[in-house]
Amino acid sequence: MKAIRKLEKGVGAEYVDLPTPEIAADEVLVKVEATALCKSDVDVYNWTPVVQGLTLPLPITMGHEFMGEVVETGAYVKGLAAGDRVVGETHIPCNHCHVCLAGHPHICANNMGVIGRNIDGSFAEYIKIPEIAAIKMDLPAEQGAVMEPMATALHGLTKGEVSGKTIAVLGCGTIGLMSIELAKIMGAAKVIALSTTDEKLAKASQLGADRVVNGKTEDLVEVIMEETKGQGVDLALEYTGSQTVINQMILSMRTAGTCVMIGMIDKPLTLENYMLKAVYKELVITGIFGRRIYQTWELLKAILETGRIDVSQYVCDTFALADFEKAIKASKSVPGRIILKP
Ligand SMILES: [Zn+2]
Ligand SMILES: [Zn+2]
Repeated sequence: MKAIRKLEKGVGAEYVDLPTPEIAADEVLVKVEATALCKSDVDVYNWTPVVQGLTLPLPITMGHEFMGEVVETGAYVKGLAAGDRVVGETHIPCNHCHVCLAGHPHICANNMGVIGRNIDGSFAEYIKIPEIAAIKMDLPAEQGAVMEPMATALHGLTKGEVSGKTIAVLGCGTIGLMSIELAKIMGAAKVIALSTTDEKLAKASQLGADRVVNGKTEDLVEVIMEETKGQGVDLALEYTGSQTVINQMILSMRTAGTCVMIGMIDKPLTLENYMLKAVYKELVITGIFGRRIYQTWELLKAILETGRIDVSQYVCDTFALADFEKAIKASKSVPGRIILKP
């Protein structure tokens, strides 16, 4: 089969021939119908400092956001059969460490498998995954490929209260944009979205943001205080990883509000006025990594069943897998995901 592999350290990746994976008893073989290019894949391609710190086991097949059809099942697989269509849960828990047993398998503490990071990924004609990482869904392939990031957006929102609350979405990449639409569906009273790109701000408005803030020309803290009568926002989702934005967020929070850290931060972080603005205000500052298995997925399916989300709007363009380098170039400023088709 054909696959995109990161062969060695440094910038780049190769389109290569590989044997089709052989499955173990608890695994399924999935024929990849569509796979999405995530910013983190672009980081792996570009060999950024964060990626350099991850000690990727090279060579490795890249990619983790995908939809496909089960074509073969291992002897112990009970819940799936050939012909089922599935999307992939990127995090593969061990299901026996203390973290898994305590109800947090998505952040398993025991050498968790991460598709495309320490086990072979979805930029390929076929991928093998354990049954526990296959989420049955029935969607057009390109839309199925963006379910994993959409579930990430949803997991971020469930870290705080949304209904009736004022939410700041800081950064309008695909997951930020998805957060805006999901927050409105979940009953947010007001969503304020930050970006520095006009196209993304326009998309944010279209998805339901009540106020968009252009970080280049407007002061985020000023706008948020004006929009909240000086109270600040109840919940902020931080997608930029920027020290400046993170400090502005701390200043924009309502007392006892919740900050959810999602953006990649690749340098030591300095927080100004931390005691006064965060500790004494009892802010909750939390991260998220992945999606709750399977609570987030169940909630996402329920929301999709309402028919209120047009998933196709998050699919910006489609390229053949062989053209992944063109896709990487095209992905820079689009308001959504680029899809690769094997
Ligand atoms: Zn991703
Ligand atoms: Zn575990």
